[in-house]
Amino acid sequence: MSAIAENIARIRSELPAKVTLLTVSKFHPVEVLREAYDAGQRVFGENRVQELLAKQPLLPLDIEWHFIGTLQANKVKHIAPFIHTVQSIDSPALLKEVDRQAARCSRSLRVLLEIHIAAETSKHGFGPDECRTLLRNGLADAYPHVRIGGLMGMATFTDDMEQVRQEFRSLRALFDELKPLAGDAFDTLSMGMSGDYPVAVEEGSTLIRVGTSIFGERSI
Ligand SMILES: *Cc1c(COP(=O)(O)O)cnc(C)c1O
Repeated sequence: MSAIAENIARIRSELPAKVTLLTVSKFHPVEVLREAYDAGQRVFGENRVQELLAKQPLLPLDIEWHFIGTLQANKVKHIAPFIHTVQSIDSPALLKEVDRQAARCSRSLRVLLEIHIAAETSKHGFGPDECRTLLRNGLADAYPHVRIGGLMGMATFTDDMEQVRQEFRSLRALFDELKPLAGDAFDTLSMGMSGDYPVAVEEGSTLIRVGTSIFGERSI
């Protein structure tokens, strides 16, 4: 088995059956992604539009591509024809553009709302109250070509796992609170990366986004 296949097998063996492992393949070349694919991975995440557009045509069509980085509204049109889920919706304007581009492709696109849970101000996302207000005001029904599939969040980058746990716990609580407002598609709580996914899973994550623990350190 390759090191990548071993890493994937090890992480999968630690996960409850209901938790999806998303392979974060940013900065890694397609040959490396192919190894993960051959090890059975089908859910991949990228955070730059140009990089995703370069890789997607070179890899099998049954890959479920998730966009996980900051997305500029003027680039949505490039990924709308094939993207499975945009995890990083951080403004109503971006959601509106995803809806518009999905309509142009006659598709319905799945999105997650990114919630700002970390202490760092540099991370993106809606504040919890902002998100509550939007859903109470009917966000889930406002855009016919968008399905709101759940929430995504990134914890603070720290060794203090108790802080990380509290942040994940607050996101889980928000997820449970919003579920009744958000409609049937709302089933995904995307939280946990290489450094913190065991805690995220304990706190109720349904999808972890893992790069480094599968592929090793990124060179950039
Ligand atoms: C890079 C990235 C990850 C994966 O991080 P690792 O620490 O390499 O597992 C997860 N989520 C997002 C949004 C990222 O940008």
